[in-house]
Amino acid sequence: MGNKSNQEIDSEISFILNELGEDREQYFQAIAPPIVQTSNFAFKTVDAIRQSFKDEYSGYLYSRGLNPTVDILRKKLAALDGAEDCLVFNSGAAAIFSSIVPFVQSGDHIVSVRSPYTWAQKCFDLFLVRYQVTTTYVDARDTQNVLDACNDKTKIIYLESPNSWDFAIQDMKSIAEFAKERGILTVCDNSYCTPIYQRPILLGIDLVLQSATKYIGGHSDVVAGVLTGKKSLLKKIFDLEYLLAGSGIQPFNAWLLLRGLRTLPARLDRISNTTIEVLNFLKSHPKIEQVIFPFDDTFPQTDLAKSQMTGACGLFSIVVKTDSVVRIERFCENLTCFLIAVSWGGYESLILPKIAGMDPSLFNKDDPQHRMIRIYVGLESAEYLIKDLEIGLDLL
Ligand SMILES: *Cc1c(COP(=O)(O)O)cnc(C)c1O
Repeated sequence: MGNKSNQEIDSEISFILNELGEDREQYFQAIAPPIVQTSNFAFKTVDAIRQSFKDEYSGYLYSRGLNPTVDILRKKLAALDGAEDCLVFNSGAAAIFSSIVPFVQSGDHIVSVRSPYTWAQKCFDLFLVRYQVTTTYVDARDTQNVLDACNDKTKIIYLESPNSWDFAIQDMKSIAEFAKERGILTVCDNSYCTPIYQRPILLGIDLVLQSATKYIGGHSDVVAGVLTGKKSLLKKIFDLEYLLAGSGIQPFNAWLLLRGLRTLPARLDRISNTTIEVLNFLKSHPKIEQVIFPFDDTFPQTDLAKSQMTGACGLFSIVVKTDSVVRIERFCENLTCFLIAVSWGGYESLILPKIAGMDPSLFNKDDPQHRMIRIYVGLESAEYLIKDLEIGLDLL
């Protein structure tokens, strides 16, 4: 999708979401593809099953490996990312695990963005250290910090652009160029943008993951993860870690993701428009010190954001003016349209204050981080949400 016009890209996305990978002749011309809810597949000859044992990635044997419903989804998700191939997992965390673990051995080193998604950090700090794999965290807003942290043992550069709390962005093209020269694998968590707004593969990143629980599913009813990249990399993951951990997605959940994908661009469009209205309201409110959103004029990396991303929506953070935890709690608890919850990307608006992750006695009113609140704008109308925030902010 490199040099195409926006209209060409939109047409390509329409084709991918509505047609690619569907083969209606195979299932009674049904519009919606079937859920092939089977654990195993039969073979006509012993030799055919023998061939399948030799390369399970080549066809249907057992649904811990490949499954036809999942395959329709894999084709669409790979094409959306501009990637050769795709694996879909039972969670975004499983996709994170599988993007890292197969590519390191004892003694190896990883360079990661500062404060990646919690379970990526736990993979580095609690799991991989057991096997003598070490990780250096850097402020990757400055590419030089990434380059300086790499050494002869560095096997992976792990990125998340933007981050899902402070929206820090990395210059993927220049990091990928450097990594290619050094033979280092690059991985990027693209959960915030989805392939509709950002395609890291086209910027040179090797493996791109997303939590499909967020925008791809889009209805807060399925947990899943996506990993895309070159077929050779995904086959390596499939042949051992994917089959060993049994972390592949189940057919019913794959079907839910197919259903979610149909409306992905429409939902992102709607949420993008609502987000701007809600942000404009918040920016003019006296209790709001700062809004943190990659496409906002006040964001320090907007130029880089706009060079890599074609959109941004839904999730942003605010820093509120207050001197007490109690007031932040009261604000969150008195909203009726925004639910207090983790995750995002569904139809319902959400709120999560940073203080939910800390002991309230440690609250320091002079630390803006402590006064940070993450907001997710769902599919509701802007007016409906703004009214709710207006009432809540009076309590702050
Ligand atoms: C939610 C999330 C994940 C993990 O995905 P799950 O589907 O919850 O396992 C990974 N990265 C980011 C940025 C996320 O927000």
